[in-house]
This record gives sequence, C-alpha cells and structure tokens, in this order.
Amino acid sequence: MRLLSAALTSFRNLRDTRLDFPAEGVALVGSNAQGKTNLLEALYYLETFRSFRGARDADLVRFGEAFFRVEGEVEAQQGDREFDGGRTHCRVAVAWQREGAEKRVSVDGVAPPRLADGVGQLGAVLFSPADLAIVNDGPEERRRFMNILLSLNHRGYLWALQRFRQVLSQRNAALKEARRGSGAEAWDGMLVAEGAKLTELRNRWISSAEGSFARAHAAITGGVGAALEHEPGIPGLGQGPWERDDVEAAFREALQVSRDRERRRGTTVVGPHRDELRIRVGPPERRRDVRRFGSGGERRSVALALRLLEADTVRSEKGREPILLMDDVFAELDGERSERLLTLLMEGSGGQILLTAPKETDVRLPPSRLPRWSIGAGEISS
Ligand code: ATP
Ligand code: MG
Repeated sequence: MRLLSAALTSFRNLRDTRLDFPAEGVALVGSNAQGKTNLLEALYYLETFRSFRGARDADLVRFGEAFFRVEGEVEAQQGDREFDGGRTHCRVAVAWQREGAEKRVSVDGVAPPRLADGVGQLGAVLFSPADLAIVNDGPEERRRFMNILLSLNHRGYLWALQRFRQVLSQRNAALKEARRGSGAEAWDGMLVAEGAKLTELRNRWISSAEGSFARAHAAITGGVGAALEHEPGIPGLGQGPWERDDVEAAFREALQVSRDRERRRGTTVVGPHRDELRIRVGPPERRRDVRRFGSGGERRSVALALRLLEADTVRSEKGREPILLMDDVFAELDGERSERLLTLLMEGSGGQILLTAPKETDVRLPPSRLPRWSIGAGEISS
C-alpha cells in the first residue's frame, strides 16, 4: 500500500496543509514537541478513527478551534489486493466537531453504515515507544493489542467484540442488582455466542502468528527464541485449536461452575475479557515470561517483534504490503538491535515507511531509501 497524500485541518499543533508523500515514504525530522507524533496520530486516525495515544477527540482539535478534519488517499501497489469493486484507490476522510461531539467518516465519499465497517482501509502498522506498555502492563493491554489488530484484519471481529462488551456490561449490571436472585442468566446465550467467537478468532490468530513472531524476534535479537501462548479466560479449554462448539460448551460449563463466585463478586469472572496473551523469551528449555523476568532491552525487542508480527498479519490477512508508521523507533534500541532493525527494513519488501526522529543521525536509513522532511512548530517542509 502507499499513502499518496493527506490533508489536515486544525489537527493538534499541525499547520493546515496538504502533504504529498514520496513512494518510499519519508523521514520526518524535528526537535521535541514540534508535531512529529501528532502527524502519525493524524494518519493513523484514518485507520481506526481514534487516537492511537488514547487521547479524547476533543484534545485533537487545535486549541481554540471548533473541529478537526483529516483526509488521506491510499493506492494499492503491484501485488496488493485491491479494494472492493476492483478499485486501486481509496480516499478516507474523518471530521470531528466539538458541537455535539459529532464524528463523520467517509470512505470514497460514502459514510459507512457503522464506524466499524470503515476501519482498516490503510493497512498501516504503527510503531511507538508506548508499545512497551503491551509487554509491561496488565493483561488488558495485550487484549487491547489483539483487539485492535484483529478488528483491523478480520471482518466481523470488531462487531463481535462490540456485541460481547454490550452483553457483558448488561450481564454484570444484572449480577450487581440481583446478587441473591437471578436475571443474569438471560444474557448467557448471547455472551456465550459472541465470547466463543472472540476466543476462537484470537486462538486461531495466535497459533498462526507464532512462527512469524518467533522469526521477527530472532531477527531483532540475533537469534533469541520467543513464543506466544493463549491463556483463555475460559477454564478447562486447554490449548487449541478447538471447534466453535467446544468453546461454547466450555464457556457454558464455566459459567455454571462460577455461578456462586460471580454472584458474590457481582461480575462475570470467566470469558474472553479474562484472556491473557503470554509472551515467553529464551531457549525452548528455559523460556521465561518476559513480563515478569525480561530486561528493559528484552521488552523492547518483544514490543518491536509484536509490531513486525502485526505487519505480517496485514500481509497475510489483507494481502497488502503494510505502510509502516514508525515513531522514534531507533532512539529506544541499542546499537546492535538498531542495526538489525535497519537490515530488516532495508532488506524488506520496500514498502512505504513514514518515520519520525528528533535528529538526522537517528534516522539511520540512508536518504536514498528514505527522503527527508523537517518539522518545526507544526509546519512541515520538504
Ligand atoms: P517528541 O520528540 O518530544 O516526541 P513530537 O514532535 O512528537 O515531540 P508531539 O507529540 O507531536 O511532539 O506534540 C507537539 C506539540 O503539540 C506539543 O507541544 C503539544 O503542546 C502540542 N499540542 C498537543 N495537542 C494540541 C492541540 N490540541 N492544539 C494545539 N497544540 C497541541
Ligand atoms: Mg513524539
């Protein structure tokens, strides 16, 4: 995929502008607080219709303005799967205004029926120093990682996730209200159906992703082994793969068994909202949970490998070469790991890379691979 152009209006500190991106991509160089991450945030907003930093939409509007708007055009390159209807181009536009907190999205000029139907048009993967939280923080960060990745790459996942969350919150409300009595059971059927779908899709992705994750991790670290493991929040499932019926049966059974516990706690204690994605690093006989035992550098390598895995998922699921948005990636890595990442990017498939760096020396990729732009006080110059 290639991002051809983007037009920005009142997005954070960025000047209103239209940018035409070189085919190879670009390295955006500028000191701290000039707007580098803001630009990647604006571009990735076109992919997910929200801030990758978890910012509220209101905070994305330039101080004192009433709305922001971002528009971008992408083009399928040779080898990329085309868009619906055999089109090679796609134009995505998003606007949000303070009045009524209204968000408008259009894909090729048409508003998708639901926002969920419009996500994932770019095929972009965003690398950020904040990715470390996926490795360091609680299981909810790793679920979030899977949820976003699968929402963007599997039709139907986001829809199932939204329905599951809705049913879960209704069921939990019922449990809280009626600790003694019943009522929660009314939601069990839908909870099981949507929850089993999520569990199965996650499990299938993790199984298929393992090889790619191990390869990416080995490439970054110079050969250190790594493995992903799905620990489902439905006890008694064991390791997959399973049939959908098996998951549903196990989920129903787990709800039955935990009935007393969930009534005491007033919340649903089993289900995919309790999944863990375990990440282990080291040689097969001494593989350790990186969250508990990993060094700072080991964690960084894992975070990077997860994004490289995401890029591979875009390739295999979407049939498209992903656009890599890389926020200050080299600054976080030691010399050797930087060299290896550099080699990966140079020897890779030559997809488009939009990379930010505070100094020219942090760009690492030669200008022949990546043209340079600079940014100062929100103004980008080529
Ligand atoms: P660093 O190298 O430190 O990561 P950066 O170039 O990535 O810096 P950004 O995160 O893009 O910096 O932020 C640039 C500036 O944007 C910040 O100084 C911030 O005050 C400003 N900013 C954030 N939100 C808004 C907004 N809604 N309106 C105007 N300016 C904003
Ligand atoms: Mg930044």
